[in-house]
Amino acid sequence: MKIGPLPKDLDLRGLAARGVVIKGTASVHALPRLREAGIGLNGEAVAEFHFSRDEEARYILETCVEATLTMTCQRCLQEMDLPLMTGSRMACVWNDADAVALPGGLEPLLVGETADLNEIAEEEMLLAVPVSATHEEDCLTEQRLYPPASERAPEVAPEQGVKSPFAVLEKLRT
Ligand SMILES: [Zn+2]
Repeated sequence: MKIGPLPKDLDLRGLAARGVVIKGTASVHALPRLREAGIGLNGEAVAEFHFSRDEEARYILETCVEATLTMTCQRCLQEMDLPLMTGSRMACVWNDADAVALPGGLEPLLVGETADLNEIAEEEMLLAVPVSATHEEDCLTEQRLYPPASERAPEVAPEQGVKSPFAVLEKLRT
């Protein structure tokens, strides 16, 4: 099924009253806070929103967001993909007083008459991003381009010109 971009201007409480499900995509252009955090996207984020009302007549929003983020590995400083799947169960609230009155297991979603689903999906992703992301396994780049100092080739003589790390590797092999 082909799905379109997430709507930007929705009456969440109206959708909850009608029990609507919305699925859509967000490109990195629609996610400015993610970009500001130095995070990119590989492809698009896909988000699903289930709207409903609970037994207390609260306006409930359940989200599931799936994306492959691109971040800087904090060990080798190369770009890496970070698959992410996150979600939560939220209740629409008008103010902080309503928020603190919510029972456990329900996150407050401070929202006025309308809301942008891109912003909600973005918030979910930002909450799920690890503080310090590193490659899950060894950083290949680290091993290949930056061997321990003891194994490093001696300084390249000036007449040989500037050597790329690959050239240094070649030197190591001979
Ligand atoms: Zn790494």
